[in-house]
Amino acid sequence: MTTTAKATVRTYRNYINGQWVEGSSKETFAVYDPATEEVIAQVASANARDVDQAAKAARAAFDSGPWAQTTAQDRGRVLFKLAERVRQNTPMLAELEARNSGKPIVEAEYDMADVATCFEYYGGLANKVTGSVNPVPANALSFTMREPIGVAGQIIPWNYPLLMAAWKLAPAIAAGCCCVLKPAEQTPLTAMELANWLEEVGLPPGVVNIINGVGEVTGAALVAHPGVDKIAFTGSAAVGKIIVKSAADTLKRVTLELGGKSPNVFFADADWEAAVDGALFGVFINQGEVCSAGSRILVEKKIYTKFVEAMAERAKRIKLGAPLERDTKMGPLVSKEQYDRVSSYLELGKKEAKTAIGGGRPKEFSKGYYVEPTIFYDVDNHARIAREEIFGPVASVIPFDGEGEAIRIANDTPYGLAGAVWTRDIYKAFRVVKSMRAGIIWVNHMQPTYVEAPWGGYKQSGFGRELGPWGMEEYLETKQVFVNLDETPIGWY
Ligand code: ADP
Ligand code: MG
Repeated sequence: MTTTAKATVRTYRNYINGQWVEGSSKETFAVYDPATEEVIAQVASANARDVDQAAKAARAAFDSGPWAQTTAQDRGRVLFKLAERVRQNTPMLAELEARNSGKPIVEAEYDMADVATCFEYYGGLANKVTGSVNPVPANALSFTMREPIGVAGQIIPWNYPLLMAAWKLAPAIAAGCCCVLKPAEQTPLTAMELANWLEEVGLPPGVVNIINGVGEVTGAALVAHPGVDKIAFTGSAAVGKIIVKSAADTLKRVTLELGGKSPNVFFADADWEAAVDGALFGVFINQGEVCSAGSRILVEKKIYTKFVEAMAERAKRIKLGAPLERDTKMGPLVSKEQYDRVSSYLELGKKEAKTAIGGGRPKEFSKGYYVEPTIFYDVDNHARIAREEIFGPVASVIPFDGEGEAIRIANDTPYGLAGAVWTRDIYKAFRVVKSMRAGIIWVNHMQPTYVEAPWGGYKQSGFGRELGPWGMEEYLETKQVFVNLDETPIGWY
């Protein structure tokens, strides 16, 4: 009798042209449970030949398949059905997501609700896209048509695996595009489960292809492929820069949602309880593996010492645990690579600043990529832990004196994804909102994200917007049609 029953290792192939296919190299890569460090799946690697096959399938589906004849209503219905599958299968998907990414199951359940809502939103938006009639002279008519961009290559990260897939697939399908989606190699499993439903919800073969492999091979081949019209990417700024350079060769449209080092600014007059809570939520939710993490916590000098103490006191109570336990508030980081990366920042932080809490590996875990929620304080805004995205549960607390200094420090960063300001003074709140150079600003909150509202960055946090009608725009071209109503010849020559 075995006492340690190992979870079965699942195998996944790639989904190309409506078929499940092995990689042409027959190679697979391992996918891990970051809480146990065990292999939970083997996934077929897609090399450049497989990417070519997927891109050609998407191209053919776009250029000459039945997809081009579907109505906007039909595309909307596809998305409603996909949302329904996600809702019906939330327990399975949330468990798989938590197991593969390390995020707490309760958070994974919220993610699945957001996935379904995203499909529903774009299902509803599909037939709301309209053109315009343009005020040209009376002897002519000019109007615009909105047309799908074509084949979209979509490359997504590992922090919100299925949600990021939904943010990319939903507007593309609604717009009438065809897709080649590459999940992050660390967390491909929920996207592969989604692939199971693509045919039954009414997507013709080739409209959505999902391929797996490491970024440098599979992702790079997708970005370089001449049959792909657009790349939508969410990930690190370093890879965003590589993608822009590569996409330049074929002048693809590119949208990028990159990282950040977002300021969360606390004035002395903020609601105390809400502020301390909001500082922790802003930086520690999802293990801090959040592009909009409020990882620079700016605190007015008048409350600074007390605030740091209160944060540390409360952070001690954050329950680290197994992702599948319902009372877990923080799971392990996603991978060994990420654990090593964050750990090296913890060592750096101990040199660059003072440590209020954390700074290493929690003692109670012998396995799993856990790190302690960590708060560094007296951080100089030019320290590396205040400038570089860590993507883990690591806060850098920075004191400031007055509104002007708060704004100066908040904006002194190469990034511009998000920011938040906490105060009860409405005048001050909106002055700060106007001054902050970032794509998303919260007042007396941090992190809530709704599919109805735009998401994206200023500066080196990327370009383009996701969600809402803005997200749909990124998958549409504008065709201007000019109609001559005057039968007389031009008569120029
Ligand atoms: P991280 O290093 O934190 O995993 P990345 O930005 O490297 O973040 O990864 C985000 C996504 O980008 C993943 O799907 C990854 O496979 C992909 N990726 C990484 N490098 C490249 C590349 N050179 N070209 C295209 N995609 C890439
Ligand atoms: Mg990488």
